[in-house]
Amino acid sequence: MDALESKKYEAFVVGGCVRDSMMGKQPSDWDICTSAKPEQVKAALCDHRIIETGIKHGTVTVLTDDGSYEVTTYRTESSYSDHRHPDKVEFTPYLLADLARRDFTVNAMAYNKRLGLVDWFGGKKDLQAKVIKCVGDPNERFKEDALRILRALRFAATYGFTIDEETYIAARSNKALLQKISAERISSELTKLLCGKYAYAVLKNYSEIVTEVLPELKPCIGFEQNSLYHDCDVYEHIIRSVAVYDGHWPVIKWALLLHDIGKPACYTEDETGGHFRGHELIGAEMAKSILERLRFDNESKAAVVQLVREHNRHIEPNRASVQKLMSELGEEQTRRLLKVRRADQTAHAEGTRHLYKVDRLEAIVNGIIKDEACFQIKDLDIDGHDLMVLGIPEGPQIGTIMKKLLNDVIFGEAENRKSALLERAKEYLRRN
Ligand code: ATP
Ligand code: MG
Repeated sequence: MDALESKKYEAFVVGGCVRDSMMGKQPSDWDICTSAKPEQVKAALCDHRIIETGIKHGTVTVLTDDGSYEVTTYRTESSYSDHRHPDKVEFTPYLLADLARRDFTVNAMAYNKRLGLVDWFGGKKDLQAKVIKCVGDPNERFKEDALRILRALRFAATYGFTIDEETYIAARSNKALLQKISAERISSELTKLLCGKYAYAVLKNYSEIVTEVLPELKPCIGFEQNSLYHDCDVYEHIIRSVAVYDGHWPVIKWALLLHDIGKPACYTEDETGGHFRGHELIGAEMAKSILERLRFDNESKAAVVQLVREHNRHIEPNRASVQKLMSELGEEQTRRLLKVRRADQTAHAEGTRHLYKVDRLEAIVNGIIKDEACFQIKDLDIDGHDLMVLGIPEGPQIGTIMKKLLNDVIFGEAENRKSALLERAKEYLRRN
Protein backbone atom coordinates (compact mmCIF):
# COMPACT_ATOMS: atom_id res chain seq x y z
CA MET A 1 0.00 0.00 0.00
CA ASP A 2 2.93 2.33 0.75
CA ALA A 3 4.38 1.56 -2.67
CA LEU A 4 1.10 2.47 -4.36
CA GLU A 5 0.67 5.61 -2.28
CA SER A 6 4.23 6.74 -3.02
CA LYS A 7 3.20 6.84 -6.68
CA LYS A 8 0.23 9.02 -5.69
CA TYR A 9 -2.38 6.32 -6.03
CA GLU A 10 -4.93 5.55 -3.35
CA ALA A 11 -4.85 2.16 -1.65
CA PHE A 12 -7.05 0.64 1.05
CA VAL A 13 -7.66 -2.74 2.59
CA VAL A 14 -11.28 -3.50 1.93
CA GLY A 15 -14.21 -5.87 2.48
CA GLY A 16 -14.01 -9.03 4.56
CA CYS A 17 -10.62 -8.29 6.13
CA VAL A 18 -11.80 -4.92 7.47
CA ARG A 19 -14.99 -6.54 8.79
CA ASP A 20 -13.09 -9.37 10.47
CA SER A 21 -10.44 -7.07 11.95
CA MET A 22 -13.10 -4.86 13.49
CA MET A 23 -14.65 -7.96 15.06
CA GLY A 24 -11.29 -8.92 16.53
CA LYS A 25 -10.99 -11.90 14.19
CA GLN A 26 -7.97 -12.85 12.13
CA PRO A 27 -8.97 -12.30 8.47
CA SER A 28 -8.51 -15.27 6.14
CA ASP A 29 -7.00 -12.97 3.54
CA TRP A 30 -6.31 -9.29 2.93
CA ASP A 31 -7.82 -7.67 -0.14
CA ILE A 32 -6.54 -4.32 -1.33
CA CYS A 33 -8.37 -1.88 -3.57
CA THR A 34 -6.68 0.94 -5.39
CA SER A 35 -7.23 3.81 -7.79
CA ALA A 36 -4.31 2.47 -9.89
CA LYS A 37 -5.13 0.53 -13.06
CA PRO A 38 -3.70 -2.99 -13.26
CA GLU A 39 -0.74 -1.92 -15.45
CA GLN A 40 0.01 0.87 -13.00
CA VAL A 41 -0.18 -1.59 -10.08
CA LYS A 42 2.32 -3.82 -11.86
CA ALA A 43 4.66 -0.91 -12.48
CA ALA A 44 4.41 0.40 -8.91
CA LEU A 45 5.05 -3.06 -7.47
CA CYS A 46 7.67 -4.18 -9.99
CA ASP A 47 9.92 -5.37 -7.15
CA HIS A 48 7.43 -8.17 -6.49
CA ARG A 49 6.26 -11.18 -8.37
CA ILE A 50 2.78 -10.52 -9.75
CA ILE A 51 0.21 -12.95 -11.04
CA GLU A 52 -2.45 -11.67 -13.39
CA THR A 53 -5.31 -13.35 -11.57
CA GLY A 54 -8.22 -11.57 -13.18
CA ILE A 55 -6.67 -8.72 -15.02
CA LYS A 56 -9.82 -7.99 -17.07
CA HIS A 57 -11.67 -7.41 -13.81
CA GLY A 58 -8.79 -5.41 -12.44
CA THR A 59 -7.30 -7.99 -10.08
CA VAL A 60 -3.66 -8.92 -9.76
CA THR A 61 -2.12 -11.02 -7.00
CA VAL A 62 1.05 -9.65 -5.47
CA LEU A 63 3.41 -12.12 -3.85
CA THR A 64 5.41 -10.81 -0.92
CA ASP A 65 7.62 -12.42 1.69
CA ASP A 66 4.71 -12.63 4.11
CA GLY A 67 1.99 -13.88 1.81
CA SER A 68 -0.01 -12.96 -1.27
CA TYR A 69 -2.45 -10.12 -1.64
CA GLU A 70 -5.15 -9.49 -4.21
CA VAL A 71 -4.99 -5.94 -5.45
CA THR A 72 -8.05 -4.80 -7.38
CA THR A 73 -8.61 -1.54 -9.21
CA TYR A 74 -11.67 0.43 -8.04
CA ARG A 75 -14.49 -0.69 -10.24
CA THR A 76 -18.20 -0.41 -10.82
CA GLU A 77 -20.45 -3.07 -12.19
CA SER A 78 -23.15 -2.29 -14.72
CA SER A 79 -26.49 -4.07 -15.23
CA TYR A 80 -26.80 -7.80 -14.51
CA SER A 81 -29.17 -9.22 -17.11
CA ASP A 82 -28.49 -12.84 -16.08
CA HIS A 83 -28.85 -12.16 -12.31
CA ARG A 84 -25.34 -13.39 -11.66
CA HIS A 85 -22.65 -11.65 -13.72
CA PRO A 86 -22.35 -7.96 -14.43
CA ASP A 87 -22.72 -7.28 -18.17
CA LYS A 88 -19.72 -4.96 -17.95
CA VAL A 89 -17.07 -4.11 -15.38
CA GLU A 90 -15.66 -0.59 -15.53
CA PHE A 91 -12.77 0.96 -13.66
CA THR A 92 -13.51 4.10 -11.68
CA PRO A 93 -11.27 6.60 -9.92
CA TYR A 94 -13.63 6.74 -6.92
CA LEU A 95 -13.47 4.60 -3.80
CA LEU A 96 -17.11 5.49 -3.09
CA ALA A 97 -18.25 3.85 -6.33
CA ASP A 98 -16.23 0.73 -5.55
CA LEU A 99 -17.71 0.42 -2.07
CA ALA A 100 -21.23 0.99 -3.40
CA ARG A 101 -21.08 -2.14 -5.60
CA ARG A 102 -20.35 -4.37 -2.58
CA ASP A 103 -23.05 -6.55 -1.11
CA PHE A 104 -23.52 -5.68 2.56
CA THR A 105 -22.74 -2.63 4.66
CA VAL A 106 -20.40 -4.67 6.89
CA ASN A 107 -18.50 -5.71 3.76
CA ALA A 108 -18.35 -2.19 2.32
CA MET A 109 -15.77 -0.58 4.58
CA ALA A 110 -12.20 0.33 3.68
CA TYR A 111 -9.20 1.29 5.77
CA ASN A 112 -5.74 2.70 5.41
CA LYS A 113 -3.42 4.18 7.97
CA ARG A 114 -3.57 7.68 6.51
CA LEU A 115 -7.36 8.10 6.47
CA GLY A 116 -8.44 5.47 8.97
CA LEU A 117 -11.80 3.81 8.48
CA VAL A 118 -13.88 4.76 5.47
CA ASP A 119 -17.47 3.83 6.21
CA TRP A 120 -19.98 5.53 3.96
CA PHE A 121 -22.77 3.03 4.34
CA GLY A 122 -22.99 2.57 8.09
CA GLY A 123 -21.08 -0.69 8.23
CA LYS A 124 -19.60 -0.06 11.67
CA LYS A 125 -23.01 0.64 13.18
CA ASP A 126 -24.45 -2.51 11.58
CA LEU A 127 -21.47 -4.55 12.74
CA GLN A 128 -22.09 -3.40 16.30
CA ALA A 129 -25.81 -4.12 15.98
CA LYS A 130 -24.94 -7.48 14.34
CA VAL A 131 -27.07 -6.84 11.30
CA ILE A 132 -26.62 -7.90 7.68
CA LYS A 133 -27.99 -5.13 5.49
CA CYS A 134 -27.61 -4.55 1.78
CA VAL A 135 -25.77 -1.54 0.44
CA GLY A 136 -28.48 0.39 -1.39
CA ASP A 137 -31.83 -1.06 -2.43
CA PRO A 138 -31.88 -4.74 -1.37
CA ASN A 139 -34.35 -5.65 -4.07
CA GLU A 140 -32.07 -4.37 -6.80
CA ARG A 141 -28.98 -5.84 -5.21
CA PHE A 142 -30.46 -9.34 -5.03
CA LYS A 143 -31.80 -9.05 -8.58
CA GLU A 144 -28.29 -8.17 -9.77
CA ASP A 145 -26.68 -11.20 -8.15
CA ALA A 146 -28.94 -13.66 -6.38
CA LEU A 147 -26.00 -15.43 -4.73
CA ARG A 148 -26.01 -12.49 -2.30
CA ILE A 149 -29.20 -13.99 -0.82
CA LEU A 150 -27.23 -17.02 0.33
CA ARG A 151 -24.25 -14.90 1.32
CA ALA A 152 -26.54 -13.01 3.69
CA LEU A 153 -27.54 -16.28 5.34
CA ARG A 154 -23.93 -17.45 5.41
CA PHE A 155 -22.70 -14.33 7.20
CA ALA A 156 -25.61 -14.60 9.64
CA ALA A 157 -24.61 -18.23 10.32
CA THR A 158 -20.91 -17.56 10.77
CA TYR A 159 -21.16 -14.40 12.86
CA GLY A 160 -24.48 -14.82 14.67
CA PHE A 161 -25.98 -11.78 12.94
CA THR A 162 -29.60 -11.26 12.04
CA ILE A 163 -30.68 -10.13 8.61
CA ASP A 164 -32.16 -6.65 8.49
CA GLU A 165 -35.91 -6.82 7.91
CA GLU A 166 -36.04 -4.98 4.61
CA THR A 167 -33.08 -7.02 3.35
CA TYR A 168 -34.76 -10.27 4.38
CA ILE A 169 -38.07 -9.35 2.76
CA ALA A 170 -36.21 -8.64 -0.49
CA ALA A 171 -34.20 -11.87 -0.14
CA ARG A 172 -37.39 -13.87 0.25
CA SER A 173 -39.17 -12.27 -2.64
CA ASN A 174 -36.20 -12.83 -4.97
CA LYS A 175 -35.32 -16.32 -3.79
CA ALA A 176 -36.46 -17.96 -7.05
CA LEU A 177 -33.54 -16.21 -8.78
CA LEU A 178 -31.21 -18.57 -6.91
CA GLN A 179 -32.12 -21.08 -9.62
CA LYS A 180 -29.96 -19.03 -12.00
CA ILE A 181 -26.86 -19.35 -9.84
CA SER A 182 -24.27 -22.01 -10.56
CA ALA A 183 -24.37 -25.13 -8.41
CA GLU A 184 -20.72 -24.68 -7.36
CA ARG A 185 -21.32 -21.19 -5.94
CA ILE A 186 -24.44 -22.39 -4.12
CA SER A 187 -22.81 -25.41 -2.54
CA SER A 188 -19.79 -23.44 -1.44
CA GLU A 189 -22.03 -20.91 0.37
CA LEU A 190 -24.18 -23.67 1.85
CA THR A 191 -21.14 -25.47 3.23
CA LYS A 192 -19.90 -22.29 4.89
CA LEU A 193 -23.41 -21.69 6.24
CA LEU A 194 -23.64 -25.21 7.71
CA CYS A 195 -20.21 -24.90 9.31
CA GLY A 196 -21.14 -21.56 10.87
CA LYS A 197 -21.34 -21.49 14.65
CA TYR A 198 -24.82 -20.00 14.43
CA ALA A 199 -26.21 -22.22 11.68
CA TYR A 200 -29.10 -23.44 13.85
CA ALA A 201 -30.80 -20.02 14.02
CA VAL A 202 -30.32 -19.46 10.30
CA LEU A 203 -31.69 -22.88 9.31
CA LYS A 204 -34.63 -22.30 11.63
CA ASN A 205 -35.50 -18.69 10.90
CA TYR A 206 -34.67 -18.57 7.22
CA SER A 207 -35.82 -22.04 6.18
CA GLU A 208 -37.88 -20.57 3.33
CA ILE A 209 -34.65 -19.63 1.58
CA VAL A 210 -32.76 -22.78 2.51
CA THR A 211 -35.51 -24.90 0.98
CA GLU A 212 -35.36 -22.90 -2.23
CA VAL A 213 -32.01 -24.57 -2.92
CA LEU A 214 -32.76 -27.76 -0.96
CA PRO A 215 -36.47 -28.36 -1.70
CA GLU A 216 -36.14 -31.97 -0.46
CA LEU A 217 -36.07 -30.58 3.09
CA LYS A 218 -39.49 -28.95 2.75
CA PRO A 219 -41.56 -32.05 3.68
CA CYS A 220 -39.45 -32.42 6.85
CA ILE A 221 -40.65 -29.08 8.21
CA GLY A 222 -43.50 -29.71 10.63
CA PHE A 223 -43.42 -33.48 10.00
CA GLU A 224 -44.34 -34.96 13.39
CA GLN A 225 -42.59 -38.18 14.39
CA ASN A 226 -44.97 -39.66 17.00
CA SER A 227 -42.07 -41.39 18.65
CA LEU A 228 -40.77 -41.71 22.19
CA TYR A 229 -37.33 -40.85 20.91
CA HIS A 230 -38.32 -37.50 19.57
CA ASP A 231 -39.86 -34.38 21.00
CA CYS A 232 -39.88 -32.41 17.78
CA ASP A 233 -40.58 -32.63 14.05
CA VAL A 234 -38.10 -34.06 11.54
CA TYR A 235 -36.70 -30.69 10.43
CA GLU A 236 -36.16 -29.47 13.96
CA HIS A 237 -34.35 -32.73 14.81
CA ILE A 238 -32.17 -32.36 11.71
CA ILE A 239 -31.12 -28.80 12.44
CA ARG A 240 -30.50 -29.55 16.12
CA SER A 241 -28.18 -32.35 15.09
CA VAL A 242 -26.32 -30.02 12.69
CA ALA A 243 -25.85 -27.55 15.54
CA VAL A 244 -24.67 -30.16 18.04
CA TYR A 245 -21.67 -31.22 15.98
CA ASP A 246 -19.16 -28.41 16.46
CA GLY A 247 -16.16 -29.92 14.68
CA HIS A 248 -14.74 -28.90 11.35
CA TRP A 249 -15.61 -31.72 8.97
CA PRO A 250 -18.02 -30.27 6.36
CA VAL A 251 -18.84 -33.84 5.31
CA ILE A 252 -20.32 -34.47 8.77
CA LYS A 253 -22.37 -31.26 8.65
CA TRP A 254 -23.81 -32.35 5.30
CA ALA A 255 -24.43 -35.88 6.51
CA LEU A 256 -26.35 -34.52 9.49
CA LEU A 257 -28.37 -32.14 7.33
CA LEU A 258 -29.36 -35.05 5.11
CA HIS A 259 -29.43 -37.99 7.54
CA ASP A 260 -33.20 -38.05 8.03
CA ILE A 261 -34.25 -36.49 4.73
CA GLY A 262 -35.83 -39.80 3.69
CA LYS A 263 -38.16 -39.90 6.69
CA PRO A 264 -41.30 -38.22 5.32
CA ALA A 265 -41.28 -40.54 2.29
CA CYS A 266 -41.49 -43.74 4.34
CA TYR A 267 -43.65 -42.92 7.35
CA THR A 268 -45.96 -45.60 8.72
CA GLU A 269 -47.97 -45.72 11.91
CA ASP A 270 -49.31 -48.50 14.15
CA GLU A 271 -50.54 -48.77 17.73
CA THR A 272 -46.96 -48.25 18.99
CA GLY A 273 -46.54 -44.94 17.17
CA GLY A 274 -44.75 -43.65 14.07
CA HIS A 275 -42.04 -45.56 12.17
CA PHE A 276 -39.63 -44.61 9.42
CA ARG A 277 -38.42 -48.02 8.29
CA GLY A 278 -35.80 -47.84 5.56
CA HIS A 279 -35.41 -44.07 5.73
CA GLU A 280 -31.61 -44.50 5.65
CA LEU A 281 -31.73 -46.09 2.19
CA ILE A 282 -34.22 -43.62 0.72
CA GLY A 283 -32.24 -40.85 2.41
CA ALA A 284 -28.98 -42.07 0.87
CA GLU A 285 -30.57 -42.05 -2.60
CA MET A 286 -31.91 -38.55 -2.04
CA ALA A 287 -28.57 -37.35 -0.68
CA LYS A 288 -26.84 -38.71 -3.77
CA SER A 289 -29.08 -36.83 -6.15
CA ILE A 290 -28.91 -33.61 -4.11
CA LEU A 291 -25.11 -33.68 -4.00
CA GLU A 292 -24.91 -34.49 -7.69
CA ARG A 293 -27.14 -31.53 -8.43
CA LEU A 294 -24.87 -29.35 -6.27
CA ARG A 295 -21.82 -30.69 -8.19
CA PHE A 296 -20.05 -32.01 -5.13
CA ASP A 297 -16.70 -33.66 -5.74
CA ASN A 298 -16.99 -37.45 -5.91
CA GLU A 299 -15.10 -38.16 -2.73
CA SER A 300 -17.19 -35.90 -0.47
CA LYS A 301 -20.37 -37.07 -2.15
CA ALA A 302 -19.56 -40.74 -1.56
CA ALA A 303 -18.61 -40.02 2.06
CA VAL A 304 -21.84 -38.14 2.83
CA VAL A 305 -24.03 -40.73 1.10
CA GLN A 306 -22.37 -43.55 3.02
CA LEU A 307 -22.84 -41.74 6.34
CA VAL A 308 -26.53 -41.19 5.59
CA ARG A 309 -26.98 -44.83 4.59
CA GLU A 310 -25.13 -46.19 7.64
CA HIS A 311 -26.25 -43.69 10.27
CA ASN A 312 -28.49 -46.21 12.05
CA ARG A 313 -26.39 -49.31 11.47
CA HIS A 314 -26.29 -51.65 14.44
CA ILE A 315 -22.74 -51.97 15.74
CA GLU A 316 -22.00 -54.50 18.49
CA PRO A 317 -19.79 -52.90 21.11
CA ASN A 318 -16.91 -55.35 20.75
CA ARG A 319 -13.57 -55.26 19.02
CA ALA A 320 -14.30 -57.73 16.26
CA SER A 321 -17.48 -55.94 15.12
CA VAL A 322 -15.77 -52.58 15.19
CA GLN A 323 -12.74 -53.95 13.31
CA LYS A 324 -15.17 -55.34 10.75
CA LEU A 325 -16.86 -51.96 10.43
CA MET A 326 -13.46 -50.27 10.06
CA SER A 327 -12.45 -52.77 7.41
CA GLU A 328 -15.49 -51.71 5.42
CA LEU A 329 -15.48 -47.96 6.05
CA GLY A 330 -11.86 -47.19 6.93
CA GLU A 331 -10.76 -45.41 10.09
CA GLU A 332 -11.72 -41.87 9.09
CA GLN A 333 -15.26 -42.71 7.97
CA THR A 334 -15.80 -44.87 11.06
CA ARG A 335 -14.85 -41.92 13.25
CA ARG A 336 -17.13 -39.66 11.23
CA LEU A 337 -19.97 -42.15 11.54
CA LEU A 338 -19.62 -42.08 15.32
CA LYS A 339 -19.63 -38.29 15.28
CA VAL A 340 -22.82 -38.36 13.22
CA ARG A 341 -24.30 -40.81 15.67
CA ARG A 342 -23.35 -38.70 18.67
CA ALA A 343 -24.97 -35.60 17.18
CA ASP A 344 -28.04 -37.56 16.10
CA GLN A 345 -28.44 -39.08 19.58
CA THR A 346 -27.90 -35.75 21.29
CA ALA A 347 -30.73 -34.31 19.22
CA HIS A 348 -33.09 -37.04 20.46
CA ALA A 349 -35.56 -36.48 23.28
CA GLU A 350 -34.04 -36.32 26.74
CA GLY A 351 -33.76 -39.72 28.36
CA THR A 352 -33.42 -41.52 25.02
CA ARG A 353 -29.91 -40.39 24.14
CA HIS A 354 -27.65 -43.40 24.12
CA LEU A 355 -24.42 -41.48 24.29
CA TYR A 356 -22.72 -44.06 26.48
CA LYS A 357 -22.93 -46.45 23.51
CA VAL A 358 -21.13 -43.95 21.29
CA ASP A 359 -18.51 -43.41 24.00
CA ARG A 360 -17.92 -47.14 24.13
CA LEU A 361 -17.59 -47.50 20.37
CA GLU A 362 -15.17 -44.58 20.22
CA ALA A 363 -13.07 -46.12 22.96
CA ILE A 364 -12.95 -49.37 20.99
CA VAL A 365 -11.82 -47.54 17.84
CA ASN A 366 -9.08 -45.80 19.84
CA GLY A 367 -7.98 -49.13 21.29
CA ILE A 368 -7.79 -50.72 17.84
CA ILE A 369 -5.63 -47.90 16.53
CA LYS A 370 -3.43 -47.80 19.62
CA ASP A 371 -2.77 -51.53 19.52
CA GLU A 372 -2.27 -51.39 15.76
CA ALA A 373 -4.82 -54.17 15.50
CA CYS A 374 -5.56 -55.46 12.06
CA PHE A 375 -8.61 -54.04 10.27
CA GLN A 376 -7.60 -53.67 6.65
CA ILE A 377 -6.04 -55.93 4.05
CA LYS A 378 -2.81 -53.99 4.12
CA ASP A 379 -2.47 -54.75 7.85
CA LEU A 380 -2.21 -58.48 7.05
CA ASP A 381 1.20 -60.10 7.39
CA ILE A 382 1.00 -61.25 3.76
CA ASP A 383 0.21 -59.57 0.47
CA GLY A 384 -1.02 -60.54 -2.97
CA HIS A 385 2.45 -61.64 -4.11
CA ASP A 386 2.63 -64.22 -1.35
CA LEU A 387 -0.58 -65.73 -2.68
CA MET A 388 0.70 -65.70 -6.25
CA VAL A 389 3.72 -67.68 -5.06
CA LEU A 390 1.23 -70.30 -3.90
CA GLY A 391 0.09 -70.54 -7.50
CA ILE A 392 -3.03 -68.41 -7.36
CA PRO A 393 -3.21 -66.48 -10.62
CA GLU A 394 -3.30 -62.68 -10.59
CA GLY A 395 -6.97 -61.61 -10.56
CA PRO A 396 -10.10 -61.34 -8.42
CA GLN A 397 -9.45 -64.62 -6.56
CA ILE A 398 -6.54 -63.00 -4.74
CA GLY A 399 -8.79 -60.23 -3.42
CA THR A 400 -11.44 -62.73 -2.34
CA ILE A 401 -8.97 -64.81 -0.37
CA MET A 402 -7.33 -61.75 1.22
CA LYS A 403 -10.78 -60.62 2.39
CA LYS A 404 -11.47 -64.03 3.89
CA LEU A 405 -8.12 -63.99 5.67
CA LEU A 406 -8.80 -60.52 7.06
CA ASN A 407 -12.13 -61.71 8.34
CA ASP A 408 -10.49 -64.70 10.00
CA VAL A 409 -7.93 -62.49 11.72
CA ILE A 410 -10.59 -60.01 12.90
CA PHE A 411 -12.74 -62.77 14.36
CA GLY A 412 -9.79 -64.53 15.99
CA GLU A 413 -9.87 -67.60 13.73
CA ALA A 414 -6.41 -67.05 12.36
CA GLU A 415 -3.29 -65.44 13.70
CA ASN A 416 -1.90 -62.46 11.80
CA ARG A 417 1.35 -64.27 11.06
CA LYS A 418 2.69 -65.04 7.60
CA SER A 419 3.06 -68.83 7.99
CA ALA A 420 -0.39 -69.21 9.59
CA LEU A 421 -2.03 -67.11 6.90
CA LEU A 422 -0.34 -69.03 4.10
CA GLU A 423 -1.53 -72.32 5.59
CA ARG A 424 -5.05 -71.00 5.72
CA ALA A 425 -4.85 -69.68 2.17
CA LYS A 426 -3.78 -73.15 1.01
CA GLU A 427 -6.80 -74.60 2.78
CA TYR A 428 -9.12 -72.18 0.94
CA LEU A 429 -7.49 -73.25 -2.31
CA ARG A 430 -8.01 -76.94 -1.54
CA ARG A 431 -11.67 -76.33 -0.69
CA ASN A 432 -12.32 -74.53 -3.95
P1 ATP B 1 -14.65 -14.46 3.48
O1 ATP B 1 -14.34 -14.33 4.91
O2 ATP B 1 -15.45 -15.65 3.13
O3 ATP B 1 -13.49 -14.28 2.57
P2 ATP B 1 -15.49 -11.99 2.30
O4 ATP B 1 -16.49 -10.96 2.70
O5 ATP B 1 -14.08 -11.55 2.26
O6 ATP B 1 -15.67 -13.25 3.23
P3 ATP B 1 -15.16 -12.63 -0.45
O7 ATP B 1 -15.96 -13.55 -1.30
O8 ATP B 1 -13.72 -12.89 -0.20
O9 ATP B 1 -15.95 -12.54 0.92
O10 ATP B 1 -15.34 -11.21 -1.08
C1 ATP B 1 -14.56 -10.07 -0.71
C2 ATP B 1 -15.44 -8.81 -0.75
O11 ATP B 1 -15.97 -8.62 -2.06
C3 ATP B 1 -16.66 -8.86 0.16
O12 ATP B 1 -16.37 -8.47 1.48
C4 ATP B 1 -17.59 -7.90 -0.54
O13 ATP B 1 -17.23 -6.57 -0.26
C5 ATP B 1 -17.31 -8.16 -2.01
N1 ATP B 1 -18.18 -9.20 -2.58
C6 ATP B 1 -17.94 -10.52 -2.67
N2 ATP B 1 -18.92 -11.18 -3.30
C7 ATP B 1 -19.82 -10.24 -3.63
C8 ATP B 1 -21.07 -10.28 -4.32
N3 ATP B 1 -21.59 -11.43 -4.76
N4 ATP B 1 -21.72 -9.10 -4.50
C9 ATP B 1 -21.20 -7.93 -4.06
N5 ATP B 1 -20.04 -7.84 -3.41
C10 ATP B 1 -19.36 -8.97 -3.19
MG1 MG C 1 -12.34 -12.71 1.57
